[in-house]
Amino acid sequence: MVTVKAGALADLVRDIFAKAGCSTAEAERIGKYLVSANLTGHDSHGVARVPRYLHWKSNGTVVADRTVNVVSETPVLAVVDGLHGFGQTVAPQAVEIGIRKARENGLAMIALRNAGHIGRVGDWAEMAAAAGLVSVHFVNASGSVLVAPFGGTERRLSTAPFVVGVPRPGDEPVILDFATSVVAEGKVLVASQGGKKLPEGALIGPDGSQSIDPHLLYGDYTPTGPRDHSKGAGAIRAFGDHKGSGLALMCELLGGSLTGMSATGFGRRFGNGMLSFYVDPNVIDPENVFPEDTARYISFFKSAKPAHTGGEVLTPGEPERRMRAERLAKGVPLPDDTWASIVAAARELGVDENRIQQAGAA
Ligand code: NAD
Repeated sequence: MVTVKAGALADLVRDIFAKAGCSTAEAERIGKYLVSANLTGHDSHGVARVPRYLHWKSNGTVVADRTVNVVSETPVLAVVDGLHGFGQTVAPQAVEIGIRKARENGLAMIALRNAGHIGRVGDWAEMAAAAGLVSVHFVNASGSVLVAPFGGTERRLSTAPFVVGVPRPGDEPVILDFATSVVAEGKVLVASQGGKKLPEGALIGPDGSQSIDPHLLYGDYTPTGPRDHSKGAGAIRAFGDHKGSGLALMCELLGGSLTGMSATGFGRRFGNGMLSFYVDPNVIDPENVFPEDTARYISFFKSAKPAHTGGEVLTPGEPERRMRAERLAKGVPLPDDTWASIVAAARELGVDENRIQQAGAA
């Protein structure tokens, strides 16, 4: 395991993407959001993605420095095409439109299509919450068919995240952010690189048996080589039996079909679709009941007797905040394979060797 200071890691990722042809501003955003995923404990959506993002950039799956195209709009909604730009660029542009419309009308809906990988979707709910807005996001990952629906063994769904953000004036927001599969694909990636093991029953084989072996998803691979999920014979399982599988289907229908992204299918170009709703509590709650009632209810929620000695009831978003504080102080731990693949990418692109050494030594 290698431990790298967050700032140095973000700088290194920025330099890598700048060398790969992104503007400095975009490269900086990619560094910021990938490292933010590591800081919140979601290593699956952090810097482990650097080789894959570079591969997508070089084969044209994702395009540098795009500005979203507003395909159609009314005062309260917009259909926004990300034009296959980096998710770290086009997702915040779409969220900004949602924030502006929600502030003007109290409510907004934004359908984002053709976004490059938008990473940890909670970042976008946090952005809305920072603007004082409630937000709900249905997301699909077209071209990434990885998940077996409840009752099936074959891949039919993407990991299709579902996210809700609730701002709390004067306090931290509540951010529920999860893949509708037992694990996000990136967690299989991290496990395949020697990181955290998968939970029991995360994967399913063609014969219906459950497993935690990443080879079931990727087939054969070398330690630092790319992971190709088209090579594995198995699938990730949808979470929560019939209920989770049903929510995943809704993410496909709303985040995929309704946005114009297209629901996930084999052979499609990779991209995220995201259907987002934004609500301004100030408009629907003139008596200002919402902040007080939220505070009261969250105390009540958290006051439930812990199921285990020393345990505690947490609100969604709390584990991420705690992890961020810890990793900002101590650094971001990276499996050796992950670090090696980032260093290899940096050297191949001609990033200043001092920058690489500085990050590794931090
Ligand atoms: P996860 O299983 O770790 O669940 C995370 C959620 O559960 C968070 O809201 C967290 O606050 C909450 N949580 C965790 N432990 C808790 C506890 N003890 N008590 C209360 N709440 C708790 O997340 P995941 O499903 O592995 O998803 C990881 C990330 O992957 C997410 O950020 C998601 O947006 C991202 N993702 C992105 C894509 C994409 O295509 N862009 C696809 C899939 C997943």
